[in-house]
Amino acid sequence: MSLRFYNTLHRQLEDFTPLHAPEVGLYTCGPTVYWSAHIGNFRSYVFEDVLQRVLEMEGFLVKRVMNITDVGELADNGEDKMLLGAKREGKTVQEVAQMYLDRFLRDAERLNIKIPKPPFLCKATEHIFQQIELIQVLEQRGFTYQTDDGVYFDTAKFSAYGSFSGQKLEDKEAGARVAINDQKRNATDFALWKFAPLDAERQLWESPWGTGFPGWHVECSAMARLYLGQPFDIHCGGVDHIPVHHENEIAQSEAAYGVPLANYWLHNEFVLVDDKKMSKSLGNVYTIDDLAARGFDPLAYRYFCLNAQYRSKINFTWQALEGAAQGLKHVQAVARTSTRGTHTDQDVYEKFCQALEDDLNTPRALAVMWDFLKSDVSSDVKGATLLKMDEVLGLGLDAIVGRLIEAPAELRQLAQERQVAREAKDFARADALRKEIEQRGWTVLDGSDGAWTLVAS
Ligand code: AMP
Ligand code: ZN
Repeated sequence: MSLRFYNTLHRQLEDFTPLHAPEVGLYTCGPTVYWSAHIGNFRSYVFEDVLQRVLEMEGFLVKRVMNITDVGELADNGEDKMLLGAKREGKTVQEVAQMYLDRFLRDAERLNIKIPKPPFLCKATEHIFQQIELIQVLEQRGFTYQTDDGVYFDTAKFSAYGSFSGQKLEDKEAGARVAINDQKRNATDFALWKFAPLDAERQLWESPWGTGFPGWHVECSAMARLYLGQPFDIHCGGVDHIPVHHENEIAQSEAAYGVPLANYWLHNEFVLVDDKKMSKSLGNVYTIDDLAARGFDPLAYRYFCLNAQYRSKINFTWQALEGAAQGLKHVQAVARTSTRGTHTDQDVYEKFCQALEDDLNTPRALAVMWDFLKSDVSSDVKGATLLKMDEVLGLGLDAIVGRLIEAPAELRQLAQERQVAREAKDFARADALRKEIEQRGWTVLDGSDGAWTLVAS
């Protein structure tokens, strides 16, 4: 089977054909570094990481770009997010950006997410020139106008505006989240450049239109074109980016250069918490630190994300995370008892790949892995196949396969007592003994004919 994705651009599943195989250009909208990224954000980055790994599994060379938004993005109430962060922390905007970039990179590493290295991890503030250049092209082509507070993109002049998100201009006007600026021609028009008086708190730049800073959407269009060319292959982000950020990126890039920005647009669905939207006012916005503080391995969250296909909503509860943590522990325990063989089980690996080729169906790929974990193949083949699978899953099995340590005698004694209880069908006692073993940091794996293995959790 060939690789296929759901392409938001045409709202259908499509076979993937890159422009310049074996290279694939991939642009993934990155974090705004004014606060810690939360677990919802990290679902996006886990999904994009799996996408990159699946492309690599298929033999493509992935050229991936991720931007760091450190200027220009406004909160729903119109306040500048970087300034909000600076006020909250009592630091300069640059200090805040560095602090949260470092935190983002640390959390991504804990989740085994591959993040591109600079220059492909690129900051908006380091690409002001390219953003000004794009606005100049738009100006020359008649897509811009000026108001007292900035230079705007006139969405009515771009006839395809709204078609990406399937909304008509009039509907969008009605639903536009930022209050209409008196001088704006259409509610959906967005700032390309904002004027700002010199002040010590802000980072500002000179431009042909006056001192100020770029609007948020410009950075992605400008940096994607610089590093990947236009058009490039795949552009990703969360579903909330479809109606505004990505609609605007497409409008300005296509209006400026007359060719599409990207051929495939992939969007992940949201993480809900207790079936509600994550929000500061509900106090249900969790970070990777919050999970770790409750004793969870961050990789349990990665595993939790993989349990759902990226286009379905997932509901985060502590209980569901606990279930994922147990599942991950079991996978790790089996990995420890296997050895680093060289022969993979080709049939199983093929099924696993087919699931992922089908619009990254990670739950189906995990189901293939679970069937395989229970199968009776040699520990060599088990280890080799699990390691191959983990190139995509990223569950850290590389450090685990073949690392079996012998359990202390008293633990082995407990495991043997549990086996005796099981044979006598005293399941309550067998269960209690298993729990005791687990509390001491070990997992019992049952084999055939009453055999058992103890594995450090
Ligand atoms: P932002 O920093 O707001 O641009 O968000 C970074 C990424 O996280 C974007 O791709 C968003 O679409 C995504 N995102 C934000 N909130 C959630 C959520 N609750 N669940 C899944 N993805 C989210
Ligand atoms: Zn973007």
